[in-house]
Amino acid sequence: MKKIAIIGSTGSIGTQALEIVRENDDLEVVALAAGNNIELLEKQVREFRPRIVSIWNQDKARQLRMALSDVEVAVYSGMDGLIEVARCEESDILITAIVGMIGIRPTIEAIKAKKDIALANKETLVTAGHIIMKLARDMGVKILPVDSEHSAIFQCLNGENRNTISRLLITASGGPFRGYTRKQLQNVTLEDALNHPNWSMGKKITIDSATLVNKGLEVIEAKWLFGVEPDNIEVVVQPQSIIHSMVEFLDGAVMAQLGTPDMKLPIQYALYYPERKVLNAKKLDFTQMSGIIIDKPDRETFKGLDFAYSAIKTGGSMPTVFNAANEKAVELFLKGKIKFLEIYEIIEQCMSDHKLIDVPTLEEILETEQWVYESISKKYSNS
Ligand code: NDP
Repeated sequence: MKKIAIIGSTGSIGTQALEIVRENDDLEVVALAAGNNIELLEKQVREFRPRIVSIWNQDKARQLRMALSDVEVAVYSGMDGLIEVARCEESDILITAIVGMIGIRPTIEAIKAKKDIALANKETLVTAGHIIMKLARDMGVKILPVDSEHSAIFQCLNGENRNTISRLLITASGGPFRGYTRKQLQNVTLEDALNHPNWSMGKKITIDSATLVNKGLEVIEAKWLFGVEPDNIEVVVQPQSIIHSMVEFLDGAVMAQLGTPDMKLPIQYALYYPERKVLNAKKLDFTQMSGIIIDKPDRETFKGLDFAYSAIKTGGSMPTVFNAANEKAVELFLKGKIKFLEIYEIIEQCMSDHKLIDVPTLEEILETEQWVYESISKKYSNS
C-alpha cells in the first residue's frame, strides 16, 4: 500500500490524483490540504478518510472542524497546516499540487521528513531549485516530475546515462493565441486567455500557457530536474500536444514520449515509478492523426520564454523575481485590473529593478518575493 499526501487536493492536478487513487486499491490517502474550497475538501475527507486535513483560512478550518465532527480527522490551517500535511508521519509520498511559491516551505519540510515528492508545483523548483535538489540528494528523496513535459523527459531517460544528453526538447502547444501578432494581443480578454486548446488546467497555469511564461518556467524546472544547462534546452511548438517532450542524445538519436493530452498519465507514473500500471484513459489512435506539426515559438511576441532564459542565465534570485512578478501580474489579470500585455511589462520592470542576490537562502527568496509583491502593489495600489 502506498500512502499519499496531497497539498492542493481540490485543484486540477489534486482532483485528478484522487481519481487515480479511486481506481487503485493499493493507494491510500493519508493527508490533504486545500486553499478555500471547503465544500469539496469535506467531500474528499468523507470519501478518502485521511488522518490529517488542512485549509488555509482559520475561519474555514473552524467551519470544517464542525462539519466533520462525526469523522476522525485532525483539521489544521495556514502554513502550519500545510507543513503538517507535508510531513504527515504515515505518508510515503507528497503530491505538490498547490499553485505558486507558497509550496516551497511544505516541499522542503516534506523532503526533510524523507517523503518522496511527486512535483507538480513548478514554481517551487524555479525559485528554490538549488536548495530543493541538494536537500533531496542529501536526504535520499526522489523528486518525481508530474508536469507532462518533464515526465516525458524523465521517461525518455529511463536506463540512459544522463551524461549522454545533448539537448532537451520541451514541447509547447502554443496556447490559445498561437500565431497572434502583438497588435492582436492588445485587446484579448480573460475569457480568450482561459480558453486553452488542449489542456484543462487551473486558471494560473492556463494564463501562463497563453503568455509562454509556463514554458519558461518549465525550462528552468528542467534545468534543476535533469541538470541540463539552459543553452541545451530548446522549446518547440507542437500544437496537438501529442509529443510531450523529447531528448536528443550525443549520437543524434532522439527519444520522445507520446500520448493523448491527459495529466493522469504523468501523475500515475510519478506515483508508481518505476512501475507502469493500467490507466483507464483514451489511447492514441495513429490512424486518426492528420500530421504532427512541429514549429518554432514566436519569442518576440510571446516574451515569457526570453524572460525565463534571461532569469535562469543570470541565476541567483532572478528566477524568483521572474516567477513572483508573473504570479502577481497573473493575479491582477485574473481580477481584470490589467491587460494581457501588461503581464510582460510588469515582469520586465521587476527584473530590471532587482538587485541580484547570488545564492539566495530560503529567507532571501521569500524576502525577494515580498519585495516584488510590494513594488507591484505600489503601482497598482487599488488592487
Ligand atoms: P489549481 O488552481 O487548479 O489548483 C490549485 C490548488 O492549490 C487548489 O487545490 C487550491 O485550493 C490550492 N491552494 C491554493 N492556495 C492555497 C493555499 N494557500 N493553501 C493551500 N492550498 C492552496 O492549479 P493546478 O492544479 O492547475 O496547478 C497546480 C500546480 O501544478 C501549479 O504549480 C501548476 O503550474 C502545476 N501544473 C499543473 C498542470 C495542470 O494540468 N493543471 C500541469 C502541470 C503542472 P482551493 O481550490 O481550495 O483554493
